Amino acid sequence: MAADGTIFGAMLEEFSGAARILNLEPGIWKILTNPKRQIIVACPVQMDDGRIEVFTGYRVQYNITLGPGKGGIRYHPDVSLDEVRALAAWMTWKCAVAHIPFGGAKGGIICDPTKMSRRELEALTRRYVAEIIDAIGPEKDVPAPDVNTNAQVMAWIMDTYSMHVGHTTTSVVTGKPIELGGSLGRREATGRGVMISTRESAKHLGLDITKARVAIQGFGNVGSISAQLIGELGAKIVAVSDWKGGVFNEKGLDVPALMAYAETHDHSVDGFPGGEPLTNEQLFKLDVDVLIPAALENQITAKNASSIRAKIVVEGANGPTTPDAHMQLHQRGVFVVPDILANSGGVTASYFEWVQDRYGYFWNEQEVNDRLEAKMHEAFNAVLQTALKYKIDMRTAAYVVAIDRVATVTKMRGMYA
Ligand code: NAD
Repeated sequence: MAADGTIFGAMLEEFSGAARILNLEPGIWKILTNPKRQIIVACPVQMDDGRIEVFTGYRVQYNITLGPGKGGIRYHPDVSLDEVRALAAWMTWKCAVAHIPFGGAKGGIICDPTKMSRRELEALTRRYVAEIIDAIGPEKDVPAPDVNTNAQVMAWIMDTYSMHVGHTTTSVVTGKPIELGGSLGRREATGRGVMISTRESAKHLGLDITKARVAIQGFGNVGSISAQLIGELGAKIVAVSDWKGGVFNEKGLDVPALMAYAETHDHSVDGFPGGEPLTNEQLFKLDVDVLIPAALENQITAKNASSIRAKIVVEGANGPTTPDAHMQLHQRGVFVVPDILANSGGVTASYFEWVQDRYGYFWNEQEVNDRLEAKMHEAFNAVLQTALKYKIDMRTAAYVVAIDRVATVTKMRGMYA
C-alpha cells in the first residue's frame, strides 16, 4: 500500500525509483504512469432464483505499446478499479521484463464466486465478455485466468467471443483447456520459471544448488511445481506450508509423496506423515538457503524480515514482500528475485499458447519447456546485468529493464496527434 493508501500508488512508488535511475524524460514518464484505457461495465445476470443482479466489471489496458494487452481476469468481492489498474500496470512491466510482445492489462468482476452456481458464473462471464467485446481480441487484448477463474471460464470467454465474430478464435484468451487450444507445459510454467530463477541465483552467488536447503510457503500450482522441479535439481526441500499447516523434514521432504498426499487431503500438506508439523511463522525463520513465498501477497513484512535467514528469496507469489521488508532484506545482503521476473514463466507460456493458436500448429511439451528455459534465462540475465551495472537490487533492476524497453519503443513510435 502506498502513502496515499492505494495499490496503484504503490506501483507508482516502485516505478519512480527505477525511472529516476533511467533519467526518464518527463513526457515519457507521464505517458507510462497513465493507464491507456479503463473500461467499467454493468453486467446484469438472472440468478437461479429468478432475481436480477447487476455486477460491476472492469478491464484496464494499462499500456499496449509493445503489443496486445495481456493479463488475467479475477472474480472476487474485493475487486476495485484501483486494484485492477495497478495489476494491469504490473502486467505491463512483467511482459516487458519477460521480453514478450505484449502490453499489460487486467480485468475483474466484483462478485463472490463461492456463492454462485456454475450456471450463474457462466452467464456472468458471457455477459462480461459481451460488454467488453470491442476491446478484446487476439490483436487487442488477450485475457487469462487469475484469482477464482480457471480453464473453464477461459473456454466460456473463447466461445462467447467466437460466437460474436462468427468463427472460432482460440487466440483470444490463454490458459484454456488443452483440447481447446491450450498449451502443453502451461500448467507447470510458473513453477518452472521459479526453478530457473532459483538455479540461476544460486549460480550467481556461487551456491551449490545440489546442497541447497529450500523452504516454500504455498503448495498450490506454483509452490508444488517449484518444489518438484527444484527437488529434481538435487536441492533438499526441507519445509512446505499452506493455509492449513506445514511440514518440516531436516533430511528433505519426499515431494512426489507430498503432492499425492495433498491431492487427497483437502489440497493441504497438513498432517503429512513424512515430517514434523510446522507453522507458517516458523517456516520464515528456518535456517535455509532459499525461501520461496508462493502463496499470497504481504507475507514478508517489517515484522518478520529480520528473522529470515535465507540467502536467496524467490518471489513465486505476486507481491509477497512489503517495500519496507524488501529494503531490510536488501540491506542485509539477501538476494531477492522479484515477482515480475521470478513468476514470469506463466505469462511467457501464455505467450507461447497465443503463438501456437495463431499458427494453428502445436509444440510438444519438450519444445515448450526448451523455449521457456531460453526466455527465462534471457530475462534473468538482463535483470542481473542491470543490477550489477547500476549497483542496485534485482527488483529495481527489473523495473529499469522493463521501463527502458517500453520507453524506447514509445519514443521510436513517436506521438500520434
Ligand atoms: P493456488 O491457489 O494453486 O495455491 C495457493 C497456495 O497458497 C495453496 O497451497 C494455499 O493453501 C496457500 N495459501 C493460501 N492462503 C494461505 C495462507 N494464509 N498462508 C499460507 N498459505 C496459504 O495458487 P497459485 O496459482 O499457486 O498462485 C500462488 C501465487 O502465485 C499467487 O500470488 C499468484 O498470483 C501467483 N502467480 C501464479 C501464477 C500461476 O501461473 N499460477 C503466475 C504468476 C503468479
